[in-house]
Amino acid sequence: MQIIHSANEMQSHAISLRSSGRLIALVPTMGCLHEGHLSLIDIAKEKGDKVIVSIFVNPTQFGPSEDYDKYPRELENDLEKCRERGVDIVFNPTVDEMFPQGYSTYVKEEQLSAGLCGVSRPYHFRGVTTVCLKLFNLTRPDVAVFGRKDAQQCAVVKKMVADLNVPTEIVIGPTLRDADGMATSSRNVYLSDSQRVEAVSISQALKIAKDMVDSGTRSVDRIVAEVTHHLSLHRRIRVIYVSVVDRDSMELARTVEPGRQLLCVAAWADQTRLIDNVEL
Ligand code: AMP
Repeated sequence: MQIIHSANEMQSHAISLRSSGRLIALVPTMGCLHEGHLSLIDIAKEKGDKVIVSIFVNPTQFGPSEDYDKYPRELENDLEKCRERGVDIVFNPTVDEMFPQGYSTYVKEEQLSAGLCGVSRPYHFRGVTTVCLKLFNLTRPDVAVFGRKDAQQCAVVKKMVADLNVPTEIVIGPTLRDADGMATSSRNVYLSDSQRVEAVSISQALKIAKDMVDSGTRSVDRIVAEVTHHLSLHRRIRVIYVSVVDRDSMELARTVEPGRQLLCVAAWADQTRLIDNVEL
């Protein structure tokens, strides 16, 4: 497995891989790799001849009072996991390499990124689209694999790729969950045992919503009320939003049409911001 830190080296290597006819599949990550990331690597291996995993904690997608400084960084562990999983290249640039002094160009999607997480994190998706386009330019992927857990990110990146004619196919992998139902996430390491017990209420609430739809409920208001009620029973959990949206346009729905919508939840478990969603 190759480990590349330099942006120029990554780009020239990717260009030569492509010119020799290799299909490149990229999995962009911020590291602290867990089973969710590894499941995306497996998808990337099916889609491409060469799998590149980027590990970069992107400062431009964190707000000033968010957890950029304390975000978990475990490079040695991550490299070991990538090696075991058969990754070909890990691209691990420094912040200076990606955003050197004087950096001033950003890519902003202006519709799908406005609601849900965009309300409380106004610069988040601008940081995501900017770093993704840079990573795409440096690694030249035929395919890039993202996780449905970050559903709005999937929709925004897909829209950016379509709007800017980026020649990369975006593939979405399903959300990987722990045995208790909780979506795996790098931020789960912040949770104490008691916080985790309460945080599991998020995936429980999603299950309640899915069961309501499966039993015939179509009123979004009723489903949102039930989910919000379930979360409110847990004193460490504070809801940021509970919304039913179209999974491509991120437009809010009033009535459930099974198969094309997601119920998305963001909530604080004390100081830890968690998101999750379920297909209805
Ligand atoms: P992150 O390192 O949190 O930026 O995530 C990198 C990629 O892994 C993103 O495409 C996420 O959506 C995806 N991801 C994170 N958690 C999960 C999960 N539990 N299941 C599947 N994909 C995930």
